[in-house]
Amino acid sequence: MSITDPHLQAVHQELLDRNPAEPEFHQAVREVLESLGPVVAKHPQYADAAIVQRICEPERQIIFRVPWIDDDGRVRLNRGFRVQFNSALGPYKGGLRFHPSVNLGIVKFLGFEQIFKNSLTGMPIGGGKGGSDFDPKGRSDREVMRFCQSFMTELHRHIGEEVDVPAGDIGVGGREIGYLFGQYKRLSNRYESGAITGKGLTWGGSLVRTEATGYGTVFFADEMLRTRGESFDGKRVVVSGSGNVAIYAIEKVHQLGGTVVACSDSSGYLVDEDGIDLELLKEIKEVRRERVSAYADHRGRLVTNGSIWDVPCDVALPSATQNELPESGAAALIANGCRYVAEGANMPTTPEAMHLLTEAGVAFAPGKAANAGGVATSALEMQQNASRDSWTFEHTERRLAQIMRDIHDRCAETADEYGSPGDYVVGANIAGFLRVADAMVA
Ligand code: GLU
Repeated sequence: MSITDPHLQAVHQELLDRNPAEPEFHQAVREVLESLGPVVAKHPQYADAAIVQRICEPERQIIFRVPWIDDDGRVRLNRGFRVQFNSALGPYKGGLRFHPSVNLGIVKFLGFEQIFKNSLTGMPIGGGKGGSDFDPKGRSDREVMRFCQSFMTELHRHIGEEVDVPAGDIGVGGREIGYLFGQYKRLSNRYESGAITGKGLTWGGSLVRTEATGYGTVFFADEMLRTRGESFDGKRVVVSGSGNVAIYAIEKVHQLGGTVVACSDSSGYLVDEDGIDLELLKEIKEVRRERVSAYADHRGRLVTNGSIWDVPCDVALPSATQNELPESGAAALIANGCRYVAEGANMPTTPEAMHLLTEAGVAFAPGKAANAGGVATSALEMQQNASRDSWTFEHTERRLAQIMRDIHDRCAETADEYGSPGDYVVGANIAGFLRVADAMVA
């Protein structure tokens, strides 16, 4: 696809000029602008109020120094980021990513996606994202603690339950949220539960938050299947990654009668034709913090040269990281008969791969719709914190399932309305945009 509307073309060129060397941010913006042609044609008030330019420019960007001391007593240095992108719908909301690849462009792409994702949930949350180039891999608990405390020593002045509400993302799970919240509590001298989500169950966390992104992605995919007269029952499924999103996507696929035959991490991909043994995977990844290669010592086989997308499947759920599903992967999926792709990760599919999949008639759900269950359940956690309440697993999961079905339907209906029936990418971009744009105009 291309950007055909002259107003959007001008906005796009200005964005490229103003933000050089941020390829992931450019990619995320381009995909949205490609969808918005019929919107700006139908609603001139958006161009009059420069809404698209304004949505593409973060309201505030914070970059800070994070010094910390390793176990040998040496001072280490990392860089911290928080991009407060858009607060039209509510306080900034979005995760923190700790990974060596993190830089301003990556945080901006994630924050930009978060605006539309959060809007699609229908909940009162704006968009933001943050993180650091800190690599938790191989670091002791105490090193991670000291890093998190130093990170929060700066971040605390920029967040709050009515201001900006961080959560986890890659490299930030329950352990890191604990260290971050503890430091926030000490610095602010407030038990402000709603200032961070993904908290532990005994100190303000919500049931289902851990499972929410993976479960939500599968609920979304299940709705894609259902509206086409199918179900997960008997389906072969490939889930890339083996972190929090992948693990709980696998769990829900198995509960719905499908079989996940492959998952992966940076050590390679794992094929287990009998279905991934989730207890074993959880033990290795969540308790022992080891690689999937350790799984192959027990069952299945590890493939270290090649692509997980070569494994034949009916449904693929890319749930690792950005641009992990390239054109060649899409071609392999199509050749092997895959008919559904739903993104558990943020922007895992390259634009070329996405084009190939949709041209071949594969039903494709973008991450900003399909993985919105994580942040939606964060908003449910904020609701519970605000009312000093805690809900049951069943109630919370039912809310999540309904939210995902609603997002599915909103994307499908919006795609129909704007002349792209069946195109979830266009539907998600337009539906997500409209709610934010209308709030900004108002
Ligand atoms: N990091 C998750 C995402 O990409 C969740 C963010 C949150 O819960 O605030 O949406």
